[in-house]
Amino acid sequence: MLTNKLLEEKNRFEHLFLQTANIMFGRDMEDLTNENLYQALANTIRQYISENWIRTNKYYSEHKEKQIYYFSIEFLLGRLLNNNILNLDIGAICRSAMSDLGIDLDNLFDEEPDAGLGNGGLGRLAACFIDSMASLGIAGHGCSIRYQYGLFEQKIINNNQVEIPDNWLKNGFAWEYRKAEKEILVPFGGNAYMKEMPDGNLKLIYENYTTVSAVPYDVPIVGYHNGIVNTLRLWNAEVSQDFAQSGVLTHEQLQEKLKFQYRLKAITSCLYPDDSSNKGKLLRLTQEYFLVSAGIQSIVRHYKKSNLSLLDFPQKVAIHINDTHPAMAVAELMRILIDSEKLSWEKAWDITMRTMAYTNHTIMPEALETWPIDMFRPHLPRIYMIIEEINRRFLESVRRRYPGNEDIIHTFSILQDGLVHMARLAIVGSHSVNGVAKIHSDILKNYSMKQFSDYYPNKFNNKTNGITHRRWLIASNPKLTSLIDELISPKWKTAPNMLIDLLKHVDDPSALKKLTDVKQFYKNELAQLIKTKYNIIIDPLSIFDVQVKRIHSYKRQLMNILHLMHLYNKLCQNPHLDIFPRTFIFGGKAAPGYHIAKETIRLINTVAAIVNSDENVNQKLKIVFLENYGISLAEKLFPAANVSEQISTAGKEASGTGNMKFMMNGAITLGTLDGANVEIHDEVGDDNCVIFGLNADEILSYYQNGHYSAWDEYNSNPDIHCVIDQLLSGPFTSNGDFHSLYNYFFGSNDEYFIFKDFPAYCAAHEIIEKKYIDTLNWQRSSLINIAHSGIFSSDRTIKEYADDIWGMNMIKLPS
Ligand SMILES: *Cc1c(COP(=O)(O)O)cnc(C)c1O
Repeated sequence: MLTNKLLEEKNRFEHLFLQTANIMFGRDMEDLTNENLYQALANTIRQYISENWIRTNKYYSEHKEKQIYYFSIEFLLGRLLNNNILNLDIGAICRSAMSDLGIDLDNLFDEEPDAGLGNGGLGRLAACFIDSMASLGIAGHGCSIRYQYGLFEQKIINNNQVEIPDNWLKNGFAWEYRKAEKEILVPFGGNAYMKEMPDGNLKLIYENYTTVSAVPYDVPIVGYHNGIVNTLRLWNAEVSQDFAQSGVLTHEQLQEKLKFQYRLKAITSCLYPDDSSNKGKLLRLTQEYFLVSAGIQSIVRHYKKSNLSLLDFPQKVAIHINDTHPAMAVAELMRILIDSEKLSWEKAWDITMRTMAYTNHTIMPEALETWPIDMFRPHLPRIYMIIEEINRRFLESVRRRYPGNEDIIHTFSILQDGLVHMARLAIVGSHSVNGVAKIHSDILKNYSMKQFSDYYPNKFNNKTNGITHRRWLIASNPKLTSLIDELISPKWKTAPNMLIDLLKHVDDPSALKKLTDVKQFYKNELAQLIKTKYNIIIDPLSIFDVQVKRIHSYKRQLMNILHLMHLYNKLCQNPHLDIFPRTFIFGGKAAPGYHIAKETIRLINTVAAIVNSDENVNQKLKIVFLENYGISLAEKLFPAANVSEQISTAGKEASGTGNMKFMMNGAITLGTLDGANVEIHDEVGDDNCVIFGLNADEILSYYQNGHYSAWDEYNSNPDIHCVIDQLLSGPFTSNGDFHSLYNYFFGSNDEYFIFKDFPAYCAAHEIIEKKYIDTLNWQRSSLINIAHSGIFSSDRTIKEYADDIWGMNMIKLPS
């Protein structure tokens, strides 16, 4: 039942919706498709957002509030309709207006394409962060690229991954606002050099470059119940208007022009589908500079409207570099301050350093970004010049610190062995460098970036990642949300640390029973989805054990599937083996050129098909690979998971955020002491998660002493021997063997210690089974995990960034 006030608002909403549908489609309601209705609803909600957006921007400029700009080459947003409704607090009126019109709101959600402008964790983190900034009242904005094609859609055909282009814009993107008048020109190529003037002074000449027009498409980012709307600015490459109006053209000139336009548009045409390396791709470098230059230029232009001195820039602007892809922001801000604003090098450098901060996301050497100088310099000559000068001055001061020690000085150089080292540029140009979980930040400080942390002891710090509890709990798990409201009051929604109050109920059988019912509800839903989509029947009462994330060797999906092959072998030998029914669920995309990852997918699907159709075992064991893991699928999975597989080789996963989403939805972590698993374990203790395997120090000493031998492990462990041999022949090879996986293990000397951790992993699964059978204790553990998940809200993370790095306040808009 709606109160009078809500009734009035509902009527206003309904009226606006009908009017919007009418304007957009000019057809009778009955003739509108679900897609039409979705568009009409999104556009209705846009009007609510616009009012708040205008108010927010007015407030920011009137109060000259400091702004933080979060630069990221990826923002993995997912769908926005449900979240916008939630954050605007119009769920009740929207639902009731729709039902008046005979429209099922839930049906419309599925009409929205996932905005898949990211690969995985890094892009999703950026999306969680802007949600938290808006919800906390921090004037923070995202800055990225409007890729015409997002991350590919994955299909599994004959057990193999097939990639289908993600044409997500084909029906338009309902949440974007094109701002043609805010175009920025970005220069590429040409010549840059210093020329001696008649008066003996040096003057910069930058000429013959090509300009690309960057047009912003702004996406409003709605804060939770606070009236604030921030901006995610996505840049699109277009042909600059100057160029378009170049008068009468000959046929040849026209052809040239069309070719050129085509090349320019390619800059923002697609997201690179590899989340760890894009070695030496010129188009990627072009994308990075395009983002950085458009973003920095527009920030400076906006700042100058305030009439404040550029010397005060760092008091009013903070810029964050998410991983090294936007690291050229350092050089670009220098370029603008020196070339356009005519500041001295020293002043420009002081401003730049105090403005920039950088987050490192990986210590995997193959993922550390470098560019060949031979490619970089001709493409971005002025930026290269600036980087050379930054490096020259930096190395001068390093030399003063380590006189005569050229070996050490080498390891600091931004330009080394013909490469531009982007992480080094980001470190030198920023006042803060952070890792994304305690263990990761420690490894950076003491190991992979030790020389820099010794040199700049105060720059390095930790900011453990987080996830927005609004999307990953309130929006995607409404039943758990209601139960928590009932158990501890709804105040936790704006203070997720209050989830700890759930501990009052650890010994409350009725609360635990309700928690189990909620989990069972979502398990039933998932079982239904799997039946409908894949025609696989899974037992909804079995243990749902889930590993979903990008497919990577270091994440060790291979260890998971080898364990299942082992379990299958055991069941075949003894069909009466008493095991509790288990459903193992996988999901994740492989980079298209990553052969081992794709073979891993083929192996999982192959084993799944054999196991699922074997009548002797398939009451106890089922394996499902879900296609096209992305945000929308993830939202359905976490509420249904019992076990969260977080089994990366210790020291390799910087943080992980999937682990936090599982925990917040009451799954028990089965994991290594890696990334944020360490902090999850610190929170819930040994009794409420299952930790196994080598720790990061042990892995490190194996790498250092070279005493690991995959052959020895294989020869001394019959279980491993057996499953590894089954890659070449046996029950799983009738449609082709897996010799490349076999060769990979021995060729790389089992680089991620799967053989070594295998026995501990099998034992960990037995512990999980025992725990699950002890129903009451499992439910307790589940509740304890949810209770402790508050610190993994990205609100906590963003508060730390705002306090320690950006110097931002939290704003309350006047109502
Ligand atoms: C959270 C998330 C990730 C990151 O998962 P990890 O387990 O931390 O690697 C990747 N993809 C999607 C769609 C996600 O929601």
